[in-house]
Amino acid sequence: MRFEYSPAPESRATVTLRDSYGLFIGGAFVPGSSVFKTISPASEEVLAEVTHAGPEDVDRAVASARQAYERTWSAMPGRERGKYLFRIARLIQERSRELAVLETMDNGKPIRESRDIDVPLAAAHFFYHAGWADKLGYAGFGSSPRPLGVVGQVIPWNFPLLMLAWKVAPALACGNTVVLKPAETTPLTALLFAEICQQADLPPGVVNIVTGDGATGQALVAHPGIDKVAFTGSTEVGKEIARACAVSGKRLTLELGGKAANVVFDDAPVDQAVEGIVNGIFFNQGHVCCAGSRLLVQESVYDEVLAALRRRMGTLRLGDPLDKNTDVGAINSRAQLDKISELVSSGEAEGASRWSAPCPLPDRGFWFAPTVFTEVSQAHRIAREEIFGPVLSVLTFRTPAEAVEKANNTPYGLSAGVWTEKGSLILWMASRLRAGVVWANTFNRFDPSSPFGGYKESGFGREGGRHGLEAYLDVTGNADV
Ligand code: NDP
Repeated sequence: MRFEYSPAPESRATVTLRDSYGLFIGGAFVPGSSVFKTISPASEEVLAEVTHAGPEDVDRAVASARQAYERTWSAMPGRERGKYLFRIARLIQERSRELAVLETMDNGKPIRESRDIDVPLAAAHFFYHAGWADKLGYAGFGSSPRPLGVVGQVIPWNFPLLMLAWKVAPALACGNTVVLKPAETTPLTALLFAEICQQADLPPGVVNIVTGDGATGQALVAHPGIDKVAFTGSTEVGKEIARACAVSGKRLTLELGGKAANVVFDDAPVDQAVEGIVNGIFFNQGHVCCAGSRLLVQESVYDEVLAALRRRMGTLRLGDPLDKNTDVGAINSRAQLDKISELVSSGEAEGASRWSAPCPLPDRGFWFAPTVFTEVSQAHRIAREEIFGPVLSVLTFRTPAEAVEKANNTPYGLSAGVWTEKGSLILWMASRLRAGVVWANTFNRFDPSSPFGGYKESGFGREGGRHGLEAYLDVTGNADV
C-alpha cells in the first residue's frame, strides 16, 4: 500500500532576506566593485543581489585579517578565543531554523538535511574546536604550537555552511584569522554567518567574507599576504591552486573530488545495505565529494540487491526542498545539471544500461531523477569520473581481492564503504582500501572529532579531529615535537 504525503512546507518567514549584500570586511558589510544575483535552484527566482569582490576588495580583506591577527587574535590567550567559538556555536544553534531554511533556499538541498545534518554539524564543529583553543599544547604538536597567520579559504556549493565551519572553526581555534570565499551560487549562509560573528562580538577582521566567482578565489589564493590556503572543490581547480601556491612558501591543504566504492558482500543484511547505498549516493542529490558513486556488489547477491535498490528508489520523494517530506531536492545550478546530463548520456552511449526512478520532475528549476546504471565496465566514464549528481554506477565482483582491486582502480581516494557481517573482513578490507575514510556498515557519517581527507587526486591534509589542527599550526619551531 502506498501512502500519499500532504505537503509539509517549512515556513520561509524565519528568513529575512536583504535585497543586497555587501562584503564582510573588518567586521562590517561594505560595498565592492560589482554585483551578481543568487537564485533558488528549485524555482530559479532571484533571492538577493550579492557583491562581487575584485582584487582590490580581496586586498582590503587580507589587510583587515592581517591587522586583526597582529593586534588581537594571535595574542589572545586560547581560553579567550575559545569563548568566542563557544558563543558562535550557541548562536548557530539559536538561529538554526533560519540558517537551515536559508541554506535550502540558496542551495536546493532538502530541509530535512539542512535542518538535521548541515546546521547541527556546523555548530558541533565550533563547539569541538572551542574545546581545543586552550589545549593546543596537549594536541601532540609540541608544547607551544604557533598559528600560521592569515588563512585564505575557498569553499564549494555543496555544503556551504558546513564547509565554512570545517574551515573557520579550526583556523580560529588555532589563533589564525581568515578570509573566506564562498561559492558563487551559494553565498547567503556565509553572509548570515558574518552577522553571527557581529552578534558574537568577534573582534573586527578575524573573519572576513568575500563573495564572488572563481576569479575572486584566484585573487585570494594568489595574494602575497596569505600564509595558508585551504581549498575544497574540484580536482581540476585544486591542481591549479597547487601550481599557484608552489614555491610561494604558503601552506596548503586540498580537499578534492572522489569516486568512492561502496562494497556489498553476500552476507550483508540487504535492507540495511540498500539504505546505506541510497544514503551514499542520493544524500544531497549526490553533490558529495565522498559519495558512494560506485556500487560494487558480490555477484551472488547482485539480483537481490538490485531489485531491493530499485524498489527503494521508487519510494524517494523528489520536489520542493522546503517540504519536510522531500528526500531529493534540486540540482544546485544549470551548469551542474548540464554536467550530470552529459555524463549520463556518455554512460548510455558507451553501452551501460540506465534506470531512473519514475518520479515526476517540477517544471521550473534544475532537477535530475535518481538514476542507476548497470552493465557498467571499469573503462566507462561514469565509472571513472566524478558525476557529482544522483547517479549510481553498479559493478560486480566475486572475491574480496577483486573488490579491493576494483575499488582502488581510481585516481581518487577519499572514502569507501564496506557492508558485511564479518568483522575480520571489514578490517582486512579497510587495511587495503586506499581511501581516507572507510565506513563499515554505514555511509556518509561525519563527526567533528573524526579526521576527513583524501589520498591521491582527492587531495591532502585532514579536516576535523586532532589531526585537522595540524593544518592550521606552525609546528616547525617546536623543539619537543
Ligand atoms: P570548483 O572547484 O570550480 O569550485 C570550488 C570553489 O573554488 C568555488 O568557490 C569556486 O568559485 C572557486 N574557484 C573556482 N576557480 C578557482 C580558481 N581558479 N582559483 C581559486 N578558486 C576558484 O567547483 P565547481 O563549483 O565549478 O564545480 C565543478 C565540478 O567540481 C563539479 O561538477 C563537481 O564535479 C566538482 N566539485 C567537487 C567538489 C568536492 O568537494 N569534491 C565540490 C564542488 C565541486 P565559484 O563558485 O565562484 O566558481
